[in-house]
Amino acid sequence: MSETAGGAPPAPQSVAPALPGVRHAIAVGAGKGGVGKSTIAVNLAVALARRGHAVGLLDGDIYGPSLPTMLGLHALEQAVVAGKLSPHAVHGIKAITIGKLVEAEKPLIWRGPMAHGAFKQLVERTDWGELDYLVIDLPPGTGDVSLTLAQTLRLTGAVMVCTPQRVAQDDAVRAVRMFQQLGIPVLGVVENMSWFIGDDGKEYDIFGRGGAEMMAQRLGLPFLGAVPINMALRASSDTGEPLKNFDPDAAGGRALPDALETLAGNLEAQVALAAMRTRGPELRVS
Ligand code: ADP
Repeated sequence: MSETAGGAPPAPQSVAPALPGVRHAIAVGAGKGGVGKSTIAVNLAVALARRGHAVGLLDGDIYGPSLPTMLGLHALEQAVVAGKLSPHAVHGIKAITIGKLVEAEKPLIWRGPMAHGAFKQLVERTDWGELDYLVIDLPPGTGDVSLTLAQTLRLTGAVMVCTPQRVAQDDAVRAVRMFQQLGIPVLGVVENMSWFIGDDGKEYDIFGRGGAEMMAQRLGLPFLGAVPINMALRASSDTGEPLKNFDPDAAGGRALPDALETLAGNLEAQVALAAMRTRGPELRVS
């Protein structure tokens, strides 16, 4: 890797190539597991597609791929055409997961170079066609795959998912710093499991609503929105039916669809700002 004038090596991202046909690659990360990173990645991808974009979703959580379940891919075969993986066209998006290439219940024990190779192949050997957004669900924490990602393709930026508690924030801050060190801009923070609406209709701040929003403020990062704890969201994730989360007539009411739409709208806006920062504003003269 070449060195900058100051002697420090350039951030891996600054020399990574753009993925052909993909306008915006967005990584979804989290400081720790179980905060709802995959859930947010899936629902952001579907929400962006519902807004008219061509969207791909890559399950880069190669140690614990969730997409076969969350998208209901178990019965589908992985097609390979002319040596390239064909993504599954489901719920209005195109999706690919390592989970369809390995045995479902076998532990995925990757050594560093194997993890690197598996992730790189998923990115580079999938026939995405033209995409407005490629959403990439990363493993939690600050491990090898994030470095591979930064070296493999040019990203518009990363989204950080965090629950409101202090312990989740501490890990999220470390993950934010990692993205920044790799040269990947953090486009914003999502607060998941922010509050809960009980059967009595009251809102309960189980984990301390607003904690992740305050963390975003402290780090000078945009806040993309908050998603409530919602039993229907957990159920639709288990049955692989994400479109149900956007039904305003569902029993849970508008809180969930509104929250997911808000996230996607705010992400769109941050992506437009990030594109302007790198390219300058696009002038259209008619
Ligand atoms: P991660 O990718 O961070 O490990 P997941 O997205 O797999 O986390 O979510 C962990 C579990 O929590 C899943 O069963 C998922 O359905 C559930 N879950 C995530 N977010 C919510 C939420 N806002 N409301 C209810 N359940 C949720």
